[in-house]
Amino acid sequence: MYTVLAGGVGAARFLRGLSAAVAPDQIAAIVNVGDDLTRFGLRICPDLDSITYWLGGVVHPQQQWGRADERFTVAEELARFGHDDWFTLGDRDLAVHLHRSMRLAQGVPLSVVTEEVAAAFGVPIRLIPATDDPVATVITTADGTDLHFQEYWVRERAQPPVASVQLDGAEAARPAPGVVEALMGADAVLIAPSNPVVSIDTILAIPGIREAIAATEAPVVGVSPIIGGEVVRGMAHRLLPAVGAEVSAAGVAAHYGDLIDGWVIDERDAESRAAISASGPVCVATDTIMDDVEVAASLARTCLALASDLAAR
Ligand code: GDP
Ligand code: CA
Repeated sequence: MYTVLAGGVGAARFLRGLSAAVAPDQIAAIVNVGDDLTRFGLRICPDLDSITYWLGGVVHPQQQWGRADERFTVAEELARFGHDDWFTLGDRDLAVHLHRSMRLAQGVPLSVVTEEVAAAFGVPIRLIPATDDPVATVITTADGTDLHFQEYWVRERAQPPVASVQLDGAEAARPAPGVVEALMGADAVLIAPSNPVVSIDTILAIPGIREAIAATEAPVVGVSPIIGGEVVRGMAHRLLPAVGAEVSAAGVAAHYGDLIDGWVIDERDAESRAAISASGPVCVATDTIMDDVEVAASLARTCLALASDLAAR
């Protein structure tokens, strides 16, 4: 079994490649839920939904999140009521949130609802939310204001300088059923090229998950989300400095520290390979820009080859 720590779009692109490289029923993704929010009474799980739409083949191809062929009738009608509309929801997307919210209200855990949604879209891998318990990523800005992750990212467009990031509710949260087993029973644990601060650290913040990754016999291999000192998309470059990490492939490797045994960087950063290997994880360089599924599949194979080398040592 291959177990992947996953954020949203970067992880979805990687998981699509991994699904083409190995049997999808051998893949489990442990997905960040710190981004989740409630709007109009509906529970929305952006990272789970991005992965579901990608692997279900219904993602908006240019935007890379949300649904292809989306329409906004409900959002237009809601405008009548004068709601603050900084978080727009499409009609197709709303159907998922309606189903999820109804099931959660019936007392069904998020991990079970996630399986239902994934099955409805024909997602061939197992998706597990990092926790079923209520958590939220909170960004504290330099002026001391606490913002929900989505207020920072969508409403404020990641402009306010960030002082710190924390996962509210983490202390009381437990890993969702299957999370620890998927880590302990894995042949390889992979860290997708996701935002290290608001996607991966927020998974690791749930008590028991970091410990299981440290305890598993499986090699742990990550993929750098930073190429040539820049993000491929998103705002990791604005968040890494807030946790004291350099915005580079080497900086993210150092941030993960002992957690990773192997680190896959882009060939454009090949000159830093030797220095990264000297200081910690075994580092290899390859093409990591996953604009097409063949590159993503080849990247996944490189990760698994590195993992089996590490396991043989
Ligand atoms: P979000 O939840 O949708 O913001 O997405 P993620 O948490 O998955 O993080 C986005 C991160 O993935 C950013 O830091 C991107 O630079 C990185 N990313 C996205 N696509 C790629 C890609 O094709 N290759 C690599 N190496 N990184 C990527
Ligand atoms: Ca996200």
